[in-house]
Amino acid sequence: MKNNCQVEREEMVSSQLEKRGIREARVLEAFRGVPRHEFVPGHLKGRAYADGPLPLDQGQAISQPYMVAIMTQAARLSPGQRVLEIGTGSGYQSAILAEMGMEVYTIERMAVLSKQAKGTLQRLGYHGVRAKVGDGTLGWKDEAPFDAVLVTAAAPELPAPLLDQLELGGRLVIPLEEGPSQVLYVITRRQSDFHRNRGERCTFVPLIGEYGWEKDPRP
Ligand code: SAH
Repeated sequence: MKNNCQVEREEMVSSQLEKRGIREARVLEAFRGVPRHEFVPGHLKGRAYADGPLPLDQGQAISQPYMVAIMTQAARLSPGQRVLEIGTGSGYQSAILAEMGMEVYTIERMAVLSKQAKGTLQRLGYHGVRAKVGDGTLGWKDEAPFDAVLVTAAAPELPAPLLDQLELGGRLVIPLEEGPSQVLYVITRRQSDFHRNRGERCTFVPLIGEYGWEKDPRP
């Protein structure tokens, strides 16, 4: 791809992110830096900077750039913070977090996807990202607590272990099923309770695991 797609990335940032209100400079800078086309399947590379989600192997999906940006901004991150992502998928969200200087931990339930994502992250030089295969609804106990947890699949309810593994003041960003659609929530851990902030409607693949769906609920 000519010029490593820098022009397409600039266009994506201005037309899809800035115009829709993504303001945090570090988030925008990360989207300018990460080569999204390296994370999408070969035959879809021409659509890597398009304004929508793209299919991955195994019936999964790489989220729309705007949704990745919304979640990243909602996590209110400062450089050097410890962030756990549930649902590695392509590895793109992990790369955005790493580009922003976070200490990234990511869990994927499908071994094939995890392996591919690890390969991509290594090849692009994101050597600090720690990735493992497992049920992300259980969190990553040995590495807890986290400043933020980003769940990139939709849950029927809040997974208790992910709340437990939040630092005081830590944020859990998670899409929850609500009637026929899904809504993005930001849960903040306070001294004696959790504050719940309701965000926008969204569409994610299901979170499947002990504290998620028992099996894929899709028809
Ligand atoms: N963040 C990804 C997109 C993820 S799509 C990216 O940037 O490309 C959601 C992913 O969550 C899928 O790959 C799916 O397999 C995974 N997933 C679903 N339930 C999970 C669970 N309990 N633990 C870990 N991963 C899960």
